[in-house]
Amino acid sequence: MQREMRKAFPFFVGYTLVCMPDFIIFHYYPVINILIASFFMLKIGLTGGIGSGKTTVAKVFESLGIPVYYADDAAKRLLNTNESLKASVITHFGEAAYHQGQLDRKYLAGIVFSNKEKLDLLNSLTHPVTIKDAEDWMDQQTTPYAIKEAALLFESGAADKLDYIIGVYAPQHIRIKRVMTRDKMSTEEVLKRISRQIDEEMKMKLCNFVIRNNDEQLVLPQVMSLHQQLLSLATEPLSAV
Ligand code: ATP
Repeated sequence: MQREMRKAFPFFVGYTLVCMPDFIIFHYYPVINILIASFFMLKIGLTGGIGSGKTTVAKVFESLGIPVYYADDAAKRLLNTNESLKASVITHFGEAAYHQGQLDRKYLAGIVFSNKEKLDLLNSLTHPVTIKDAEDWMDQQTTPYAIKEAALLFESGAADKLDYIIGVYAPQHIRIKRVMTRDKMSTEEVLKRISRQIDEEMKMKLCNFVIRNNDEQLVLPQVMSLHQQLLSLATEPLSAV
């Protein structure tokens, strides 16, 4: 729920309780409770550039019992399971995009990684489906807050549907080193990927919170402190950052 709507919620509840007949409140008490819980649950975005450590940070939140939606994994799944998305991909990239019903990732990567227009086109097909899937997933969570981890939160428009955004920051030279080690890539290949994303410093300015994963500050205390802050925000919906 976006922050402005959360602020209006107590007035809505007050009005409803005054106007609603007692028998409706009695019969639908569990349903009302679930609705209130989902209304107050904070939807948090977690973003950062390639190799910044988004997944690493997300795993720490998971270890604290916070559910995490991994947008990249979800997009890969949806490209193989969502029939209308599959049809759109075939329309724009040809029948060869799928082999025996499964996405031919090598074929598609060959097209989009050398052509920004085609990459934007693929993203424009995938993002709306992933955003909807993430919203459905968020609606099923019952924790005080839940996290959506995605590299392109701002670029895809997904940030608009979230209450707060956490940025994970690491300087470029560290990100290059990490991705080269993890994915066995050359410096040039990593730099090419970085050049396709929006500037890291600018992205961090758009975030409500920043976790520094720069080999100088420990990640765990930062996540623990933010976890406490988010729990407070989830139980005090009228607070603002
Ligand atoms: P991508 O956008 O490519 O998915 P990411 O932002 O999710 O990357 P991670 O996969 O979490 O980044 O981290 C990239 C690599 O760096 C991983 O191999 C991870 O283990 C390593 N790494 C992340 N943070 C640290 C750290 N603080 N110290 C050492 N290694 C780290």
